[in-house]
Amino acid sequence: MDCTKSYKSQCDATCLHCGATLEQKQGAGRAKRFCTPWHGRAWRQRARALGLDV
Ligand SMILES: [Zn+2]
Repeated sequence: MDCTKSYKSQCDATCLHCGATLEQKQGAGRAKRFCTPWHGRAWRQRARALGLDV
């Protein structure tokens, strides 16, 4: 891991649901993982259907 870069710049900047490129905002807060809130909801719904605890 490159400690000179922030955690956010090192994580995948693509939507987990559709693969769209995301613009990560640097600074406080969680890293963005979905292009839209409803994509996050759809992904979690699918993950739950697969038996994941998300
Ligand atoms: Zn998406």
